[in-house]
Amino acid sequence: MPRKLDASNAHFRKAIQRLPLGVSSNFRYWGDDKTIYVKRGRGARVWDLDGNAYIDYRLGYGPVILGHCHEEVDAAARDGQTIGTVFALGTERELVVAELIHEMMPAAELVRFSNSGTEAVMAALRLARGATGRDGYVLFEGSYHGLFDAAMWMADVESLETIEDDPAVVTYGKGIPGLTRQLFWQVPYNDANRLEDVLRRNRDAIAAVLIEPILGNCCGIPSTPEFIRAVRDLCTKYDVLMIVDEVKTGFRVAKGGAQELYGITGDICTVAKAMANGYPIAAIGGREDVMRHFGQGVAHGGTYTAQAMSLAAAEKTLTILRDTDALARIAAYGRSMQEGMGKILAARGIPHSFTGHPSMGGLFFRETPPANYREWKLSDYSFYDALAARLIDGGVLCEPDSREPWFISAAHDRACLDETLAIFEAAVDATVGETRKTQRRAAK
Ligand code: PMP
Repeated sequence: MPRKLDASNAHFRKAIQRLPLGVSSNFRYWGDDKTIYVKRGRGARVWDLDGNAYIDYRLGYGPVILGHCHEEVDAAARDGQTIGTVFALGTERELVVAELIHEMMPAAELVRFSNSGTEAVMAALRLARGATGRDGYVLFEGSYHGLFDAAMWMADVESLETIEDDPAVVTYGKGIPGLTRQLFWQVPYNDANRLEDVLRRNRDAIAAVLIEPILGNCCGIPSTPEFIRAVRDLCTKYDVLMIVDEVKTGFRVAKGGAQELYGITGDICTVAKAMANGYPIAAIGGREDVMRHFGQGVAHGGTYTAQAMSLAAAEKTLTILRDTDALARIAAYGRSMQEGMGKILAARGIPHSFTGHPSMGGLFFRETPPANYREWKLSDYSFYDALAARLIDGGVLCEPDSREPWFISAAHDRACLDETLAIFEAAVDATVGETRKTQRRAAK
């Protein structure tokens, strides 16, 4: 039974009068009668305006690593507010948080703060350009680095005819200057030969290779260990900086992020989401000689950087992640959930696989997991789309788009797991039933 969304729908009709699409991010618009407005969240659960309860596997696209309304983090944030908000001057806590980041992620020898992932990656790219004196950069198919012109280009895999052909590179939408296309090369993920080819030919023009170590916006497809090590070696060999974008993976897939998981060190790295449980803060870290370019000709700043409340939330969140087994519990939950889902799907003969790290894994309807974005197209994502709609109706809040991984928080407990699997089983059966009906109708 589809759940009732009367109150959300009524709010949408009012909101659309003042807010484009009725929301504050295009991604939050799910259709005129499907857009959800949240009343509140607590722990791993979220309630909408109609009182529908959901187990949340989106977590605001990842940040809410300890669960919604985490008492200790919120108390720390309130304490941070007693200092003030912003001063256009530094405060002592910046150093405390920078030390924590460095301790957990040693690649961040020096640290600068930003407000969002987008801002941090923009600053990282500017830093790389300033440090090398070159403007070009390399992006990988299927990656996402935020909403700024240089990164708002993607591989158009939906119109791919064969998996071997290079997909067209298109903008995320209107308003992106075509001129910016001349500044980057897009390379298939997990393909070190193609990367080397680009670097060999264009090293004099390229400042940086910008990489998500795990494609956090594309089913959670991970780098193979060989690939990411090759990226590291190739960047060194061709004297190009490696920017590891850990906005999603940082302080989530391991205390030291994906760099710890893979045993690699970026020249520059960016972190954001999991560092403050949802409070707006991000950071750029990196090699000392590179980072010192901030202040030696490379601009960086911003009215709200290192805002007191967010800094205090970051200090508390990072301390909890460092000192407790939260990340181990999150990964264990993810593994148990995948195991449970796997049993349900296998019992029905539905080909499937899981991608990525269990704390941010992708569910994929094909026997073998994808190694790159092009392979996502080979999966039955229409089954995922239909299943996701039923899961959301049943109270499991996953992303309607199969490219977004399922995020787990430390607040997801046994009760959430049991409930999730029961809802999943019913949703799979209903989706299979519906698919059969559609097929029968088409055959007539
Ligand atoms: N980089 C990566 C890897 C991301 O996943 C995101 C956001 N999903 C960003 C950058 C941009 O971050 P924000 O939305 O905070 O601007």
